[in-house]
Amino acid sequence: MTEGQARDMHEKILVIEDEKTIAEAIAYALRREGYEVETIHDGEQAVRRLNETRPDAIILDVMLPGLDGYGILKKLQDKGRLGVIMLTAKEDIVNKVLGLELGADDYMTKPFDMRELLARLKSLLRRIQAAGEKAEPDILSLGGVTIHLGKRTIVAGERKLELTPKEFDLMALLASNPERVYTREQLLDSVWGMDYFGGTRTVDIHIQRLRKKLGPDYGETLQTVHGIGYKAAKTP
Ligand code: CA
Repeated sequence: MTEGQARDMHEKILVIEDEKTIAEAIAYALRREGYEVETIHDGEQAVRRLNETRPDAIILDVMLPGLDGYGILKKLQDKGRLGVIMLTAKEDIVNKVLGLELGADDYMTKPFDMRELLARLKSLLRRIQAAGEKAEPDILSLGGVTIHLGKRTIVAGERKLELTPKEFDLMALLASNPERVYTREQLLDSVWGMDYFGGTRTVDIHIQRLRKKLGPDYGETLQTVHGIGYKAAKTP
């Protein structure tokens, strides 16, 4: 019995690759290691499948019919703990960087050694598991407002807000402790740093801008506590 077969949990891997001989060779090698495997040969179909099911990792070819590997990564709303190993025939550093920026964890250039792919997949799954065990919540939710800390995005209702880095940091800090009242000085120190020379008016201006961006339905998420400072509260 191999180490893979001895695993009690069957990690699920989606192999997205249009060259069927390669897809089948990968699937065969993975199944022999005890993984549960599904193969998909088309980009659009891959996105649909990823919306239905969330595997532990995907082996993702770049050149695909329908939608390419980068397009698939862009369409994934929330990558979460999904591991991504990209496969490409191109030795192109620009594409490699693009893949990594879009959330790929690792990258292999074709032709690749199957044992190396297995070793990288195993190490990636181990990293994901270790990260998950000590992870803090990545998503904060305040009624209709959702804050994705990892992606640094805020969605109010269905609308993704265009925010500056400081606006995001301010909102994330307040939202991390709903109903806790922060003084302007505390917010200034935490978000701008002790050595920032601007006054607490900076905080007020950023709160005003955030409320405007949250819009009439969600502006009340940020509440003024008169004479003290601000707090985040759940909006209906
Ligand atoms: Ca291909």
